[in-house]
Amino acid sequence: MAISTDDFVPAYPGKDVDDVVILGGGLAGLFCALKLSPRPVTIISNAPIGQGASSAWAQGGIAAAISEKDSVEKHRDDTLAAGCGICEENIVYQMTREGSERVRDLLSYGVPFDQDLEGRLQLSREAAHSHSRVVRVRGDMAGKAIMDALITAVRRTPSIRVLEGYIGESFIGEGRYVTGVLARRRGGLERMAFPAKAVVLASGGIGHLYAMTTNPGEANGHGLAMAARAGAVISDAEFVQFHPTALDVGSDPAPLATEALRGEGAILVNKAGERFMEGIHADLELAPRDIVARAIHREILEGRGAYLDCRDAIGARFNDDFPTVFAAAQSAGLDPVKDLLPVAPAEHYHMGGVLTDANGRTSLDNLWAAGEVASTGAHGANRLASNSLLEAVVFAARIAEDIQGLMPTPRSAFWDEMDAAPGLPSQRNIEERDAITVLRNTLSENVGVLRSREGLRKALADIQKAESVCVRQSIQNMMVTGKLIAAAALMREESRGGHFRTDFPDENPAMAKRSYATLKEVNALVAENLETVI
Ligand SMILES: Cc1cc2nc3c(=O)[nH]c(=O)nc-3n(C[C@H](O)[C@H](O)[C@H](O)COP(=O)(O)OP(=O)(O)OC[C@H]3O[C@@H](n4cnc5c(N)ncnc54)[C@H](O)[C@@H]3O)c2cc1C
Repeated sequence: MAISTDDFVPAYPGKDVDDVVILGGGLAGLFCALKLSPRPVTIISNAPIGQGASSAWAQGGIAAAISEKDSVEKHRDDTLAAGCGICEENIVYQMTREGSERVRDLLSYGVPFDQDLEGRLQLSREAAHSHSRVVRVRGDMAGKAIMDALITAVRRTPSIRVLEGYIGESFIGEGRYVTGVLARRRGGLERMAFPAKAVVLASGGIGHLYAMTTNPGEANGHGLAMAARAGAVISDAEFVQFHPTALDVGSDPAPLATEALRGEGAILVNKAGERFMEGIHADLELAPRDIVARAIHREILEGRGAYLDCRDAIGARFNDDFPTVFAAAQSAGLDPVKDLLPVAPAEHYHMGGVLTDANGRTSLDNLWAAGEVASTGAHGANRLASNSLLEAVVFAARIAEDIQGLMPTPRSAFWDEMDAAPGLPSQRNIEERDAITVLRNTLSENVGVLRSREGLRKALADIQKAESVCVRQSIQNMMVTGKLIAAAALMREESRGGHFRTDFPDENPAMAKRSYATLKEVNALVAENLETVI
């Protein structure tokens, strides 16, 4: 890392370095901060916490083996099966084993998970789970309810300082040792240094690198690029999950029509009313996400369209049971009680990310990563529904424990006042705005549900060209992450889980392993490929 604090404004001159800086205020970041309390922690978030986080949008819930009929082993086996042969088995076991304890933690923070009259947690079943094991809140409100409870807990915890409206752009470091975060005030140009004894990256996913996504605008791969630029190993970047049923109503982000609708019996039909999952998979609409996504993609490509029909299965109880989807459909002028809902696959979740071990440590010293930005190996090539909130809390808690163990004596919180109000949205120049559009379109077209060598090389060339006009570090970060994903997809010459190559449509048993790359390696690959594309 060539960047040092010398060139930047210190965030709080004259004071000691922070104990812990967490970049990101979603579930992983907030949970880690609470678990670290009373150790002083600064959370830096580019949006007010609760906004700009996928966590608040989660509709399904958290998977955990809680019921007496279920077991950690069954949850582990379902997760391994979904991951298509490349999950880290020990990580999956630890994650599933610690699930029920973390759900108890969330209850203690006040999350109102649905319970029966005797106070037992109500558990739902989702696709590819062999048991009912998803804890939820009022149908599709889990994410919001979890985040509301954690935000209240964080605001009440004096050792946690929340700085909202600051965009992390780079890590500060000495060699491979990360010593802090450089951030820019949203809407401003001045960069500030936040030195820390420990840095936790919890910046979420990559959805907004794609033209169609279910993720909030802040999920744009900044954190992944920051770590890659600092030299961290990135793992499994090619594995992107496309949710099959985003509402295709022209909004960005695309509203999600949760899988639970299909779990309740909603069916998929085309314009001719044909139930096109028949003949594709024995589980029909509840087949694995990648199979349903490809089937829908094909109906749309071939002009037949794809629609979710909830009329018989859910009908009049739609608004009560799925208030979020109901509101999204209504604002697009659709009534799910009477109308078919047009759907299309949308980028939803990134299985890959910054490589971590079981304690969330990355390949860089003093940098931990948790949540969607991390690649623990828990999801392999495909994530099992409702396992991502689980992964976020399990590994955030492990990181907190690891940091406590390394630094047994916390200092006392002693912060200067900082203006924590979010600034104006940043003004991007026209070239940068166009570059982002190029990036989003090329990733959707060439690094989406279907991929090929030709398309992936085109994507790399498009990104390389777009990157050359980007001035701001945050926009360059988006380009870097796009490049890491496209390059990893080019290198994996087989199809597995969320990664489908039309030129290599089968799984290759010799490739049943995770992928690892540094930005340096990816840049070399891009240079080599572009020589022949241009
Ligand atoms: C619509 C939808 C429904 C989902 N439903 C489920 C579900 O039912 N169950 C499940 O398990 N998973 C679900 N997921 C996935 C799950 O919500 C996410 O994987 C998980 O919440 C990620 O948590 P996180 O803390 O890592 O990231 P996030 O919650 O996305 O938080 C990231 C944080 O980082 C901040 N940030 C990003 N970049 C920067 C930067 N450069 N500087 C400063 N701050 C930054 C953001 O503002 C945000 O505060 C769903 C996702 C979506 C989009």
